Amino acid sequence: MPGHEALYRKYRSSTFAEVIGQDQIVRTLTNAIANKRIAHAYLFTGPKGTGKTSVARLLAQAACCQGQQQPCGDCPPCLLSAGSNPDIIEIDAASNRSIDAVRDLRDKVAQVPTYSQRKVYIIDEVHMLTTEAFNALLKTLEEPPAHVTFILATTEAHKVPDTIVSRTQRFVFKPFPTKLLAELLTDVAAKEGWKLEPAAADRLSRAAQGGARDGLSLLDQVGAVADTKEISDQLVQELLGHISQDQLSQLAASIASRDTAKTLSLCAELATSGVSATQTIASLITLWRRLVWLRGTNESAPPSLQPIIDSRDLSGHVEILEQLLALHQSHWPGSGTRDHFSKIDHSAQLNPIRTSQTC
Ligand SMILES: [Zn+2]
Repeated sequence: MPGHEALYRKYRSSTFAEVIGQDQIVRTLTNAIANKRIAHAYLFTGPKGTGKTSVARLLAQAACCQGQQQPCGDCPPCLLSAGSNPDIIEIDAASNRSIDAVRDLRDKVAQVPTYSQRKVYIIDEVHMLTTEAFNALLKTLEEPPAHVTFILATTEAHKVPDTIVSRTQRFVFKPFPTKLLAELLTDVAAKEGWKLEPAAADRLSRAAQGGARDGLSLLDQVGAVADTKEISDQLVQELLGHISQDQLSQLAASIASRDTAKTLSLCAELATSGVSATQTIASLITLWRRLVWLRGTNESAPPSLQPIIDSRDLSGHVEILEQLLALHQSHWPGSGTRDHFSKIDHSAQLNPIRTSQTC
């Protein structure tokens, strides 16, 4: 799609007021800015896509501002377009992990800012730095020049040495609650001229597991293939709900061996990744028809299925198939899958599948 701007970039918060889901952090930072008490070092931790980089950039912009009320939107640094202020330096520690990179940074830190009130270093994925690089960074953090602010961001706070952490003000970014993320997606979809079904918004936000960036990327994908301006839950389900062969075999093995705990956790995993209970059961039914056939005919089976086939005799497999069909029929009557079977026997062993769709 030429010229297509990713939704998560397009709708990145451009003011603190637009930041959602991190109210406490925004309140603390805007107070610090208003009171001109911006610290020398911050550590932003939390899962990916929860706004660390967006907030870091907003803080950097405020710190650079020369106006009275920061960011004033009117002074030279504020008027520079995003990414073009030479006093805001973004470093990806994943690709600059060596001590040389940090030494280079230390040399430049001493130089006064070009345009701005302050110089701000945003170091993303800071946990990737080598021990030597951390030690070099620590020296800078111990005696930072008055004009410098560091904002360190990481998804893996436990990998950042305590000596670094203790020199920073730490902010923990929380994953977005499903409901809030669903609201954000609905809102962005409306701005894009799409009508997102509530169930579709809910499914997308669950699949994103609390990450706004992932949620918006998924919405991007769905929007790109939607034929109409209406984005239905059905469409989202078709796009997201893919069970891999491996996931299906694992689930089948746990059901065949009556491992309820494992079955529950696999079902929960599938539900979180956007696979519906209907789809899970439908896939299991298809698989078990094959297992019954293979067991009955003694035909050679793929090695991954052989242990499952061997775990029961033919009537044992038929029994599971009947239970799956009954489960399908009781949840989605009229779908016709149960036509060939009459016996209904809800086994406790299959209840996890039912439970997983409500969790
Ligand atoms: Zn300004």
